Amino acid sequence: MSNSSLNPGVVSGKDYQTLIKACKEGGYALPAVNVVGTDSINAVLEAAQKNKSDVIVQLSNGGAEFYAGKGMDDSFQAKVLGAVSAARHVHLLAEHYGVCVVLHTDHANKKLIPWIEALLDHGEAFYKETGKPLFTSHMLDLSEEDIDFNLSESKRLLERMVKIDMSIEIELGVTGGEEDGVGSDEIDNDKLYTQPEDCLKAWDILSPIGHFSLAASFGNVHGVYKPGNVKLRPEILKNSQALVQETHGTAHNPLDLVFHGGSGSEKAKIEEALTYGVFKMNIDTDTQFAFAEGVGKFVMANEKAFKHQIDPESGEPYKKQYDPRKWLREGEVAMIERLDEAFADLKATGKSLALKKSEVKAA
Ligand SMILES: [Zn+2]
Repeated sequence: MSNSSLNPGVVSGKDYQTLIKACKEGGYALPAVNVVGTDSINAVLEAAQKNKSDVIVQLSNGGAEFYAGKGMDDSFQAKVLGAVSAARHVHLLAEHYGVCVVLHTDHANKKLIPWIEALLDHGEAFYKETGKPLFTSHMLDLSEEDIDFNLSESKRLLERMVKIDMSIEIELGVTGGEEDGVGSDEIDNDKLYTQPEDCLKAWDILSPIGHFSLAASFGNVHGVYKPGNVKLRPEILKNSQALVQETHGTAHNPLDLVFHGGSGSEKAKIEEALTYGVFKMNIDTDTQFAFAEGVGKFVMANEKAFKHQIDPESGEPYKKQYDPRKWLREGEVAMIERLDEAFADLKATGKSLALKKSEVKAA
């Protein structure tokens, strides 16, 4: 177990790597939760505080656009400014929840490279202003392109990111399913499994430049579907780690691995993946459903309040039920409950590095 401790709040650079190291050495991972507004962000922060765990707050390009507002004319600007606004919200609040928070953007394919570049413009300005990057890391997902283009673009952007203490997440092999318009259901089965040789190539090209994490595909699929013919094969992660370790004589599990499409996965396979250096598991579909289910239950139980301000027969006012704070909170609470389960599955409960710091202080 690592004895490191960190200040609560948004972490980046060396502190982010300390966090990853603690995860890998401690055999746990952090949930990376996709958010779309202050409700879901605050629910994630509250869940992390409640579970005494550090956490990753993540925005997809669509989530960022929604954060800025669906009514904005320029949807590209909305994707950029929504992400910036969400990140600033988290920077302001995170430390008050007493845990470490990683800020990250999700899948950016070739068409979305300009989105990442615009976010880096903002990130560089923020760094000048505060000495910290706006985001801990951005994901560049060029897994649908050929590997040489994937890695040369990743290298180009990482060179820019390291100057402001940022990390990059890349993807090798294709995560099945579709998320936010990125990805496809129609891909060859063999592409769903990353080749260990490709992971070694990524290590050789990127590790001399700066810190990177790697979303490797081992049969994982975005979304929750009926059991199909794709099988989770976490041993692919093990083999990739072994190849890098043997080739370069590194320590155990040199790659910092990310598990995409964690929603609906078998618990045993999650547990196995944790032993192969997975420090981050993305969760979106299951928390989306939890939020909707929480709101839905409330609406169905209070149907009249969503049709009438005052009961047409009894004259009873329904303000206490239709007040958005009431039903949005039901969504938050349900999302927090689903995250309790995620922290437990990932063995992250009680492991916040910020918590250790306050305990040290109190002692
Ligand atoms: Zn993903």
